[in-house]
Amino acid sequence: MRDYREIPLYRDVTPEQWNDWRWQLAHRITSVDQLKQVIDLVPEEEEGIRASLLTLRMAITPYYATLIDPHDPACPVRRQAVPSVLELERSPGETTDPLHEDLDSPVPGLTHRYPDRVLFLLTDQCFNYCRHCTRKRLVGVRDQPAPRERVERALDYIRATPEIRDVLVSGGDPLTMADARLEWLLGELRRIPHVEVIRIGTRAPVVVPMRITPHLCRTLARYHPLWVNTHFNHPVELTPAARAAVGMLVDHGIPVGNQTVLLRGINDCPVVMRDLMRALVRARVRPYYIYQCDLTWGLGHFRTSVRKGLEIMEMLRGHLSGFAVPTYVVDAPGGGGKIPLSPQYLLAMSDDTVILRNFEGVICAYREPSPAAGGAGSSCPLCGGRCGQLREGLARLMYGAQVTLEPAQLERARRRGVDRGEVFAKIAEDERKGRDSYGDGCW
Ligand code: SF4
Repeated sequence: MRDYREIPLYRDVTPEQWNDWRWQLAHRITSVDQLKQVIDLVPEEEEGIRASLLTLRMAITPYYATLIDPHDPACPVRRQAVPSVLELERSPGETTDPLHEDLDSPVPGLTHRYPDRVLFLLTDQCFNYCRHCTRKRLVGVRDQPAPRERVERALDYIRATPEIRDVLVSGGDPLTMADARLEWLLGELRRIPHVEVIRIGTRAPVVVPMRITPHLCRTLARYHPLWVNTHFNHPVELTPAARAAVGMLVDHGIPVGNQTVLLRGINDCPVVMRDLMRALVRARVRPYYIYQCDLTWGLGHFRTSVRKGLEIMEMLRGHLSGFAVPTYVVDAPGGGGKIPLSPQYLLAMSDDTVILRNFEGVICAYREPSPAAGGAGSSCPLCGGRCGQLREGLARLMYGAQVTLEPAQLERARRRGVDRGEVFAKIAEDERKGRDSYGDGCW
């Protein structure tokens, strides 16, 4: 992160101005000439900025611009903020509205997909226009809050639909609006008896942390239960200012979750993702989702394979505390909603045993509470119980000879310095004899 006073464009900016979110919003970088005064541009970026008005306009807060490496076109912050000509390419399957948000919209600006919750698009203005935005068909078109009549119609729909208990206020970025306007909306929502939870989706803590002021936090805290979801994609975005911003929200009792988009060349690496999740938790932000990048037109250069997403999840689960592991989801094209994906941990099943593997590659047997009739074992009517004596591979677990199979180079065993094979053989033996296995082998 650079000191803004070293950038010629901001040399005369006072700390009061710099730390004022309205100043940041009013001085977003929107042209090649401005951006060239902050970072070196490569020809594809210059062309991309000119072309960006055909797709999604450019806007970068001065704060976020100081996070960009001025000389590295591959900088992960820069790739999220600076347009590229690649955005003009169309890949197979890409559409303007892959999630069918418009189709599932009973009134303009509201998507009602899941039974008990709605997405309320309050403005099309954002502090930054993220190059990977899934809603690029909508955001930045007017660069303004939605007209009052449209907001009123959406509120009327929510009032008239008692099954809605959760309203996600998003956009655009709702925190581009003044506190008073936001408070009016929150008050209207709180007056609706069936609305239990209000959520705000915002990238402000990432791109303009000075937006999170004590006044805003006090305002939001009047409308609990209220949750905030934000959108950090890379550990370098968790600057001291960003951590202070989310910390202030949390201090006001507002749970903060994070939604990361899996982006090629930005965070599609297990180490970067692990560092990001650790940094989020240190900042008291709960990792919530990792999104597979949507099939929105012009995002082909950002998309990774689902295989890459699963590889990353394999390196998170077990390697981080459970609450630090987000859910990896594909938002189904065609409006099917979020579908969670996970590496395969269930290997095999019999009538009375489930064979599972953990993050270390240890394979174990979980005995079901009441064995079903007719299963393998001494009572098997088909083979007279010989199947229960099988001892090859997973059969050792399935039929009770062992409770676990461990890789030869198990780090955990090395740490403990015990022969776990012997321990587990004893547990299996005790299990066969119907005894408790608690003892030396218990951990
Ligand atoms: S802040 Fe959100 S809505 Fe706005 S451009 Fe970024 S991803 Fe899209």
